[in-house]
Amino acid sequence: MDIYLLAFLLIVLIGSVTVYIYYLKEKHAHLNTIERGFCPKCQQDSIVMTDKRAGGSCGTKLVTYECEICGYTNSFSVDESCSGGCR
Ligand SMILES: [Zn+2]
Repeated sequence: MDIYLLAFLLIVLIGSVTVYIYYLKEKHAHLNTIERGFCPKCQQDSIVMTDKRAGGSCGTKLVTYECEICGYTNSFSVDESCSGGCR
């Protein structure tokens, strides 16, 4: 096994994992901002929930938020406690 190829693969792997973790953190930060009622992009309190649908499993909802000022839109998987309709 070529040590340089191995090192290259390792760097690519670490790189993609880092990007993925960063993406999740940023998404989580966006959700925190939105839950306080602010748009993560333009920082105005103009964020509105435009869509909410049940996700794959019980208690998980796919919620879409949109900013009325700058047009920012994003969807989040939100875990919610079951309120009827679930076993
Ligand atoms: Zn905005």
